[in-house]
Amino acid sequence: MDCLFCKIANGEIPAQIIYRDDLIVAFDDINPQAPQHKIIIPQKHIATLNELRGEDSELIGYMVQSAVMLAKQLNIAHDGYRVLFNCNAGAGQSVFHIHLHLLGGRRMNWPPG
Ligand code: AMP
Ligand code: ZN
Repeated sequence: MDCLFCKIANGEIPAQIIYRDDLIVAFDDINPQAPQHKIIIPQKHIATLNELRGEDSELIGYMVQSAVMLAKQLNIAHDGYRVLFNCNAGAGQSVFHIHLHLLGGRRMNWPPG
């Protein structure tokens, strides 16, 4: 499948990987929007949140738990951080393999643009 994040998950395309296990891979965003900007993807290809199935609930929970674990490791948990999914082009999704953004290390403003 011609999917950038599947290729990062299987090692075809290099990335600065900070965590990997059977279910997920986490790596540095190539165009960081904050001093800490990590991307967390499932190993399983799911194009957008709209394609989630009931059986994926545990996986999504695990991705969020992993973001919290990484935020603690990166020492941004206390000051604050943001985790988010963009769904479809209107929300800014540019890679169609679901991914959780973890952003921190600066003041995160609200509302986002
Ligand atoms: P989104 O716009 O929500 O689809 O997020 C895609 C993110 O992936 C963006 O923040 C990009 O900077 C990032 N990205 C794109 N290509 C790569 C890559 N080869 N390695 C790491 N991050 C990437
Ligand atoms: Zn994929």
